Amino acid sequence: MSKPRVLVVGGGVIGVCCAYYLSKQNVDVIVLERDAIGKGASYGSAGVIAAGHPPMNKPDRVRQALKRVLDSTTPLYIAPRFDPSLAAWLWRFSANCTERKLTANMNVLGPLGHATLQLFAQLIAEEEIACDYQASGYYEVCRTEQGTTHARRDVALMRAHGFDAEVLTGEEIGDRMTSLKNDVMGGAYFSDSATCDPYRFVVEIAERVRRAGGRTETGRVVTKVEGGAHPAVRLATGERFEADAVVLATGAYSLQLARELGCRLPIQPGKGYHRDLEFGEGSRPPLEAACVLGETSVFCTPMSGRLRLAGTLEFSGLNHRMHPSRLAQLTASAEQYLGDIGPARVTSEWCGLRPCTPDGLPVVGRLPGQTKVFAATGHAMTGLTLGPITGSLVADLVTGATPPSTEVTALAPARF
Ligand SMILES: Cc1cc2nc3c(=O)[nH]c(=O)nc-3n(C[C@H](O)[C@H](O)[C@H](O)COP(=O)(O)OP(=O)(O)OC[C@H]3O[C@@H](n4cnc5c(N)ncnc54)[C@H](O)[C@@H]3O)c2cc1C
Repeated sequence: MSKPRVLVVGGGVIGVCCAYYLSKQNVDVIVLERDAIGKGASYGSAGVIAAGHPPMNKPDRVRQALKRVLDSTTPLYIAPRFDPSLAAWLWRFSANCTERKLTANMNVLGPLGHATLQLFAQLIAEEEIACDYQASGYYEVCRTEQGTTHARRDVALMRAHGFDAEVLTGEEIGDRMTSLKNDVMGGAYFSDSATCDPYRFVVEIAERVRRAGGRTETGRVVTKVEGGAHPAVRLATGERFEADAVVLATGAYSLQLARELGCRLPIQPGKGYHRDLEFGEGSRPPLEAACVLGETSVFCTPMSGRLRLAGTLEFSGLNHRMHPSRLAQLTASAEQYLGDIGPARVTSEWCGLRPCTPDGLPVVGRLPGQTKVFAATGHAMTGLTLGPITGSLVADLVTGATPPSTEVTALAPARF
């Protein structure tokens, strides 16, 4: 009997992880990527596998940030323009910033976080994925009372869901990270988190898909997905491919393809930036461990011999225009905490679009009214973190290997 064929549209971290776990379940899988593998949002993330971390919708901080969204120097920025879909999204997002919603989301994200950490460890060990994987946790460092209070709350929440997280004083942080300025007031350490080079992770997983007999085809622009009992995709070239199932893993670009199947996914592109710094021949980045700067939400991740500064959340539409002031903000933030970061060469400046949902949960499951077309998107700030568990869940859903769990039901596209 021939193997079932599954087409995965999109070769970001989510698409390749879906393809990897499908290939492990004896499926003939083909990834169709319009550009190159891993060059979308997955290319330049902060590289932090932040399992169990609370989602964006938090009652305290986000509400405060929403009051200052038009200020282009804050971590969250909304370009002033007429956009009814963004206005509706923001309204829904704000309505989801409640304690009740946070508890409900953590009940879903907690188990997914534990499962994804296990899958990462397994992938790295069994597949020998070379992506500078460091299972040494990361720090949150804060310079204000408000920041430390926020970090303490995150620690309590994560501990309640079984994650290793500890509150640290400024002195304790200073002892462990001597490269920081001495005005750090306090923060936290998340020891069961990890870091990696996100692009190398995606490229390596795609390679394992091919080794398992799957295909990754680049330069393949999918213009339409056809649903029903015999799903198919159409390419810009006019070609049409039939399959037993289709998985939409097109990140922030999922709306159009889903809409043509009658499904309105409320996803907004949340633009983030990175700036990579190198410190001369043979020099290591001047930072002992990865950390997030509490007040500015900028991540500083030592990665493959360089230091990546990554962050900001900008709602300015589906485009890749880079604002120099946002990039400058990354360095300015880092200097507030690290001091003068010395003679560094900027080796990469980049922006990418996070696929953000208004309720803080990804969208994973069958599209409403479809039996053989699935979505795997909406991972916002945690696509790398949840990549392996998403891939594994999608493979189970597509092949019908296990009945959907409570967590999977909570992620279903039909909830919107
Ligand atoms: C600055 C920044 C920092 C981040 N830091 C972290 C972090 O530390 N930890 C973490 O877990 N997450 C982080 N994220 C979030 C994470 O990067 C995203 O959630 C994740 O990359 C989303 O993956 P994806 O595969 O859904 O999307 P993408 O990587 O964007 O992949 C989608 C792919 O689909 C392709 N595509 C789109 N349309 C079509 C079409 N019609 N036909 C064919 N192909 C198509 C695109 O070319 C693209 O390659 C960060 C994001 C940013 C921007």
